[in-house]
Amino acid sequence: MPFVSDKVSNLPPYLFSEFQRKKKELEANGADVIDLGIGAPDLPTPDFIIDRLAEESRLAVNHRYSTYSGCREFREAVVHFYQKQYNVELDPESEVLAVIGSKEGIANLMHATINPGDTVLVPDPGYPVYGTAVHLANGRSAALPLDDANGYVPLYNQVDRATIEQSKLMLLNYPSNPTAATAHFDIFLEAIAFARENQLLLVHDAAYDMITFNGYETTSAMQVPRAKEHAVEIGSLSKSFNMTGWRIGYVVGNKEIIQALATFKSNIDTSQFLPIQKAAAAALKSNFSAVTEHNKIYQERMEKLHRGFRQLDIEADKPKGTIFLWAKVPDGFTSMSFADKLLQEAGVIVTPGNAFGSRGEGYFRVALTVTADRLDEVISRMEKLNLKGGPVK
Ligand SMILES: *Cc1c(COP(=O)(O)O)cnc(C)c1O
Repeated sequence: MPFVSDKVSNLPPYLFSEFQRKKKELEANGADVIDLGIGAPDLPTPDFIIDRLAEESRLAVNHRYSTYSGCREFREAVVHFYQKQYNVELDPESEVLAVIGSKEGIANLMHATINPGDTVLVPDPGYPVYGTAVHLANGRSAALPLDDANGYVPLYNQVDRATIEQSKLMLLNYPSNPTAATAHFDIFLEAIAFARENQLLLVHDAAYDMITFNGYETTSAMQVPRAKEHAVEIGSLSKSFNMTGWRIGYVVGNKEIIQALATFKSNIDTSQFLPIQKAAAAALKSNFSAVTEHNKIYQERMEKLHRGFRQLDIEADKPKGTIFLWAKVPDGFTSMSFADKLLQEAGVIVTPGNAFGSRGEGYFRVALTVTADRLDEVISRMEKLNLKGGPVK
């Protein structure tokens, strides 16, 4: 098609579409498919947030364009959140920017920072959106291997010197999608030191910062002294407050980068609808009791599945947060052959680990976004597959 750009034509095929096609086919034949592939909360947005949206949407002043960088109330709510949660000070004018969901923020951040051919280090395994965002900005991505034997921390010494020298930017994501790994302060200290030494910008995606179990508190990259010289952090309301469809998030940190992104975006969009920003501000300024309640539900699901997997001899580390369980495929399977078998023979969709990079091979990701009853059903279906002997063929 001559009117479609190479950039778009060359995008990798959407890996989940084949599974979704098979799902439809099975469902058309009357099968009851349980989809654990969907990495989005199934729970509703808390009422107090919806109430604020309803109120604000009735006010004519809110029907106009927002300021480009997001309204003051939203940016101040982000500042408040960083103070309360991380004891980090931010300037609402120069160090905070509203984005239309973090996915938008990530994509436009690439355009605002890299030149054609620049290299970006992306975690492997990691969220596939990073690689495509780099591609769309005409950059090149290089894998930053994460250590599966040690909690998926970055293995900087496994990236060759030349690649590091060509790199302009490095992405990290903790708590992580897909591995559910979390990172303590030292990991961020090391990341900032690596960024400083190699003149890189660290971009930390904190999409799951609030989804934790047993009161575990995540670290922000901004807590590292002088982090703002070398880093920005991207946050999102999507997962913490079940607001995926609302499209609201933020970027905080380095002033020049925030300014560059704001300038780039001001030529593309005019920020998010004001009532959505104000409802999101209410969420960030709330006492987080809604988040705590949701976290209990995710934890209960996680524990149940983890127990079930253990009985099936499927290995998985117990995560401290996120809406995922990351598990090893049984002996004799690849990520793909296992995901295929689960769909064909048990009517269960999981995401094969290789969808997240070559180092995801041998694993599969389960999203904790169905009810505990459905997870019981998943385990009972898997028990019938007799997985311990490997694939029979
Ligand atoms: C879901 C997800 C996002 C996208 O969040 P939005 O704010 O809804 O765009 C970003 N990063 C990771 C790692 C995610 O899993």
